[in-house]
Amino acid sequence: MSQPLFRTPKGTHDVLPDDNLYMTYIKKAVRHRARQAGYRRIDPPLFENRAIFDRGIGEHTDIVEKELYLVSSKQQSDEEPAFALRPEFTAGICRSYIENGMQQLPQPVQLYSIGPCFRHDRPQKGRYRQFHQFDFELIGLSDAGLDAQLIQVIDKVFQDLRIKDRLTLQINNIGSGDNRKAFAQALQDHFIGKERHFPDLDRSRLHTNPMRLLDSKEEDTQILLKNAPQLSQFLDDDSRKYHALVLEYLDALGIASTENLSLVRGLDYYNQTVFEYWDASTGAQNAVGGGGHYDGLIELLGGKPTPGMGAACGMERIIWHMKEAGVRAPDKDQVDVFVAQLGPEAKKTCLTLIADLREMGVHTVGALGEASLKSQMRLADKFQSRWTLLLGKMEVKEGTIILRDMAAGKQKQIPFRDTLKTIKKLIGEKNLDTYTLKDQMSE
Ligand code: AMP
Repeated sequence: MSQPLFRTPKGTHDVLPDDNLYMTYIKKAVRHRARQAGYRRIDPPLFENRAIFDRGIGEHTDIVEKELYLVSSKQQSDEEPAFALRPEFTAGICRSYIENGMQQLPQPVQLYSIGPCFRHDRPQKGRYRQFHQFDFELIGLSDAGLDAQLIQVIDKVFQDLRIKDRLTLQINNIGSGDNRKAFAQALQDHFIGKERHFPDLDRSRLHTNPMRLLDSKEEDTQILLKNAPQLSQFLDDDSRKYHALVLEYLDALGIASTENLSLVRGLDYYNQTVFEYWDASTGAQNAVGGGGHYDGLIELLGGKPTPGMGAACGMERIIWHMKEAGVRAPDKDQVDVFVAQLGPEAKKTCLTLIADLREMGVHTVGALGEASLKSQMRLADKFQSRWTLLLGKMEVKEGTIILRDMAAGKQKQIPFRDTLKTIKKLIGEKNLDTYTLKDQMSE
């Protein structure tokens, strides 16, 4: 193979047909579980005013500091880029809630989305610059029961995809904004004069966003934190009660969880419940999904104080788990019939034959380019079609067609007018891929 002139940009990939089988299957499960639980689909734009992410996610988070893809246009070439590709869905959906007056709707407003997100991460296994998420948001009401229900929806999707056993649900409560402020201050006070012991990045985090130290991957930092004040000591009574209730409700729903006091999530907007789904064997790295409460976010974005919570899962990582677990997404792309032909008359007849077969719900391909019958048969083999129909000059004259069973390697001649009927019988009426709009459209 010659070297391609162009390749996908670093950290991006084509979702090739084989992986799209998985993507489609995941989307089906998500849509199904969303409908059951009253979530409606929303698609925010791929890029937004970047201030939404700066404010919502937080200026001193990895996503905003290092990973935002800024979008500038020629029209505003000498200004700072005003837009950014979405690194996640939550901030955009909250912007939409405010912009579209959704506080007028019955609360909570439950929305879900599926699509690509963009982060300028350092590419590595499971970490891409363009990746796909599905996302659930529940805005306008706060109750521990709703936390448990949101987690249950995600749990059900993982069950449907048969990867639940490979994951553990990690959960924590990070309290109110005030609790966290007090904790951050206590951490900074505790480490006054000891800053030099921290690795570079964490030293600056100590000043800009001390909460982030908790989920630092640096061993030195984790050792230093052992004797430092703990976030759990700063939680107010309401947060503790709320957390206990969430755990109780999860238990009632039969959902196992692991309390994890160092789970904080990398985004500023969270409060109260936070959770992540981790790979049961490797832990924190490459979490499959996560979410939590963000009761201050809508206000930060200019709306009235409104509670909210959400969860997002990475589809590439889910596909990886499905493959590891030996789960194969159903392949509906198989070719039923390959149509081979020779001569101008046969070609014209096959054009309508192929159209009629397709219309009947038979997956049909045919080589209409000039080629010998032999090379067309080789092609039929490569397409792994179950049957091949052969129409040569002789058959056109006789009003027949040759039907070949590819697996059995046997063929017979049948009257041309019986072709559709015969194929339909072979495939079975119920297996035909017909598309009908089952639901009536209202006038
Ligand atoms: P986060 O809100 O950052 O925890 O992201 C939610 C989920 O999106 C993660 O649990 C991952 O499954 C997925 N995800 C986040 N960043 C990436 C990335 N760079 N590449 C692939 N998947 C990602």
